[in-house]
Amino acid sequence: MQIMINNLSVRLGMRTVVDDVRIDVPDGALLAVIGPNGSGKTTLLRAIYGAVRPVAGSISIGGQDLASVPARRAARLRAVVPQFQHADVGLSAHTVVGTGRHSHVGWWTHEQEADRDAVQTALRQTGAEELAPRAFSTLSGGERQRILLARALAQQAATLLLDEPTNHLDPRAQLDLLALVASLPMTRIAVLHDLDQALAHADLAAVLHQGRLVACGPPAEVLTNDLTTAVFGVRSAVIMHPLTQRPHLVTAPVVRTDMGPPDPT
Ligand code: ADP
Repeated sequence: MQIMINNLSVRLGMRTVVDDVRIDVPDGALLAVIGPNGSGKTTLLRAIYGAVRPVAGSISIGGQDLASVPARRAARLRAVVPQFQHADVGLSAHTVVGTGRHSHVGWWTHEQEADRDAVQTALRQTGAEELAPRAFSTLSGGERQRILLARALAQQAATLLLDEPTNHLDPRAQLDLLALVASLPMTRIAVLHDLDQALAHADLAAVLHQGRLVACGPPAEVLTNDLTTAVFGVRSAVIMHPLTQRPHLVTAPVVRTDMGPPDPT
């Protein structure tokens, strides 16, 4: 389903943290939201999943305005994979995935066959079947993120929101998780830190800077040296990766020109 973010503004305390942001994510696309720390990425995502209320603008999914959709129906429209979570609860991974069905069954009704099927399908899709009986708290970071992705998929929502899904994962787990997210058919919005990951996997990149949308489009067009210099304070170039033969974004510090002439000694 198409996600439309229409002139959205969010205030936290006295500050406008998301400022008049307008993004249109076509059906089936993966949008990467990128920007420096504090630019409003998480707040934008939180507004889409209803954790903060915008002061202006609207969000619609499949033409349905989230402000006028009951919570239960909204849960069928978008599922969330939150930021990396430390877990000390004693639930099994299977039970954690099952909580993705709460919007369908409610805590007062019994699990139905459809719920069991949805959990099994989600575990299979994420390659996490063998993890299911284990205690969630004993899983590695990468395994935990796969279970949280499975939980979101078990919700069988039309769209998927992911907040820095690869944070704290080792390189292999990052590549595996992103490949999995990229292979999913539904419309997805992922907050990503790594510009190269956005270039490699996203159909669109939206760049936030101080709460404002400064660029949105195909990552290869958006992630120019001028943009990374202005927004992230790093120079960048796109080169051919020697191992994968795909475009790869590399960064370097901005050369400072205000340091005066070199010391003659
Ligand atoms: P990002 O995800 O891009 O790092 P966030 O959306 O987390 O950015 O935060 C955007 C800005 O909002 C930051 O400057 C942060 O300090 C500020 N902020 C976050 N939560 C609150 C809050 N509860 N009250 C006031 N400001 C907040």
